[in-house]
Amino acid sequence: MKKLNIVYVASEVTPYSKTGGLADVAGALPQELASLKNQVVLFSPRYSSVDRKKYDLFDVSDFGSLSVTVAGREYQFGLLKRNAKTPGLETYFIDSAELFGRNGLYQDPVTVKDYPDNDIRFVMFAKAVLLSLEKLNFKPDIVHANDWQTAMVIAYLKTAERENPFFAGAKSVLTIHNVAYQGLFPAERFDRLGVDRSLLYPMSPFEYWGKVNLLKAGIVYADIVNTVSKTYAEEIQTTDDYGYGLEGVLRDRRSVLFGVVNGVDYELWSPERDTLIAKKFDADTLDEKEADKQKLLLVSKLGKDRLDKPLIGVISRLAPQKGFDLIEEIAEELFALDFTFVLLGTGDKVYHKLFEDLQTKHPDRIKVNLAFDNTLAHQIEAGADMFLMPSRYEPCGLNQLYSLKYGTVPVARKTGGLADTIIDETTNKGKGTGFLFEEYEGEALLKCVQDALAFYRNKRSWKSLMKRGMKKDFSWKKSAKEYLALYARTLEGLA
Ligand code: ADP
Repeated sequence: MKKLNIVYVASEVTPYSKTGGLADVAGALPQELASLKNQVVLFSPRYSSVDRKKYDLFDVSDFGSLSVTVAGREYQFGLLKRNAKTPGLETYFIDSAELFGRNGLYQDPVTVKDYPDNDIRFVMFAKAVLLSLEKLNFKPDIVHANDWQTAMVIAYLKTAERENPFFAGAKSVLTIHNVAYQGLFPAERFDRLGVDRSLLYPMSPFEYWGKVNLLKAGIVYADIVNTVSKTYAEEIQTTDDYGYGLEGVLRDRRSVLFGVVNGVDYELWSPERDTLIAKKFDADTLDEKEADKQKLLLVSKLGKDRLDKPLIGVISRLAPQKGFDLIEEIAEELFALDFTFVLLGTGDKVYHKLFEDLQTKHPDRIKVNLAFDNTLAHQIEAGADMFLMPSRYEPCGLNQLYSLKYGTVPVARKTGGLADTIIDETTNKGKGTGFLFEEYEGEALLKCVQDALAFYRNKRSWKSLMKRGMKKDFSWKKSAKEYLALYARTLEGLA
């Protein structure tokens, strides 16, 4: 296939910035696309975490000072570049200390409230990306944006930049990582976008129940829309529970709506290579995993006597999406079962309290870490026996994919990417890789955990189950090829 010029735009990218799965995707997919012989330029904002020295960044200063106008004000920005680590991939950061040099990405970490100028920040970012492409003279075949924060890059291609010959050949792809986050702003702020006022009318691409909705604009304007699993792509067209009000818009676009499951960066997430865990292991040296369990118990200040008990891990944003209200519903019966529980997560205060209270009740076997801690995340993946994800919905989910690789058996709700990547052992005897429950009900979760714990007692069957999961391959290569097929589809005029 012809080598493509691909622009990949994301509001967070591992290792520079991260709040969730999008960062991991944006850190890996562009590399994979480049290694498949495409020319890829990646853009993201320069937050305070993006350290100039650490990442060896330099100013692309050939253009003099750069600026864009947002809401009637001129914003100057710098263009920082990281020297290519992967041939074919160039990484750029839009540098505006005023808008992005903050500790949080979208929210103030102290007040846990969205920054009030998020519209200005990401409008400025989108405009800065398009201007930078012209300055760099990088004519894209594909502009691939992600979520509401970068949807305006696509919207501009179809509105303000429509007549710009520089972008004439560009086709656009929007990946939705989570349709619940839409970039909603009051209608009075529409002018901040700098698109024609005539585009704000009831049911217009930007309008959503009297507000401005940036994700909707991206969905309407993109040539191709995709989400991060096939099941989620279906689910978000059904009801408000999954589509968060955009189900109708998504149904309208179903002929160009696809699902591509995320891959895993196995350089970072595999037990035979992981430098953050106590002892490396693979499917042939599974017994070594016990050293990782010991370490996890140690760092969790839990007793050595817990070594023989099943250990269930959780690493998650503590948000309603993740299904922890089911745990609350059945907490008494659930924690009457004899397992160890180690949780790592931050988020809504109600869940902080829920888990802190549980820890107070069972200090000998529950350890709750209300933090964001990458090392501990690796230690949990390596040291736990099971990994719990009772999600209400899950666009793709990465932790179950990591868990499979670490022989940490996922126990999850059958939704979105969890349904697509885990095979339920109870209904597929001898072929499963985990345990799934369907109904979003506490009782169903309880039964599923009970089944998993019962299965755990048979060491031989459990080992086979672990090994089946470890053999699954969710590397990026396959998913990157699926993205290339979507790009080809739109370039050939099929979408
Ligand atoms: P989402 O994007 O909805 O948060 P995913 O499962 O797709 O969920 O991705 C979550 C990513 O963030 C994973 O890489 C996970 O390990 C990481 N993560 C989430 N919470 C924490 C935390 N408290 N500490 C460290 N890593 C975390």
